[in-house]
Amino acid sequence: MSLLSFQRRQHFIFSMFFGQLREHVLNKKNRQAGGETKKSPTSAADPASQGNITRERNLHSGDHQHVPSDIALRVKALETVLTEKKLIDPRVLDKVIDRYENQIGPHNGARVVAKAWTDPNYRRRLLDDGTAAIGELDLLGRQGENMVVVENSECIHNLVVCTLCSCYPWPVLGLPPSWYKSSAYRARAVAEPREVLREFGLDVPSETEIRVWDSTAETRYLVLPRRPQGTDELNEDELAAIVTRDAMIGAAVL
Ligand code: FE
Repeated sequence: MSLLSFQRRQHFIFSMFFGQLREHVLNKKNRQAGGETKKSPTSAADPASQGNITRERNLHSGDHQHVPSDIALRVKALETVLTEKKLIDPRVLDKVIDRYENQIGPHNGARVVAKAWTDPNYRRRLLDDGTAAIGELDLLGRQGENMVVVENSECIHNLVVCTLCSCYPWPVLGLPPSWYKSSAYRARAVAEPREVLREFGLDVPSETEIRVWDSTAETRYLVLPRRPQGTDELNEDELAAIVTRDAMIGAAVL
């Protein structure tokens, strides 16, 4: 299992279940203090337990030569405890992780952009009602229920930020990069966007207006980048392949 998988497991387990784990630990301490005997491990016949074993095999099948990292061991320990307490179902956890590792990501946003570049009617619908148009491609979902699409042009460059935290359109862009969540980006993208973009390697001409869009829990933004010159011969799939995550945030151009 890749490091990325463990990072994702850590993220979900900590964010979704840390409160329950703390409660479990406190209860266990209380029971032990009261003289209660330790509960036996979950039976191997338990489906949840079997799911855990499957992943345990995966954990070990990757590399027998090295001791798993500290973070991997911590994630595994947490998952084992939470499974035994029946606070999580490992099969559901696998589905959640598969969704965030394989199903959602910038490749979805790239499909939206490529379709807008090749279908003028879709582009119009996308700019008029991003939610409905993205929904046509079945790409709506949690953290992307209400979408607004803003189009770059020769006169306007759009940049997306969440000044409050890290609101981001997960279904079309995946999970946000660390810089997007940093306090420096969140503050400076609003105060000095041109300088921030310059640090990203993007010199926006002084005559181009920069519009900064502040994401919220209710509304998420997707930038429709300008189609690069020399791409007239590319089909929709080929166009999607050249669209980058940063261009759909507005931190880059194509
Ligand atoms: Fe936020």
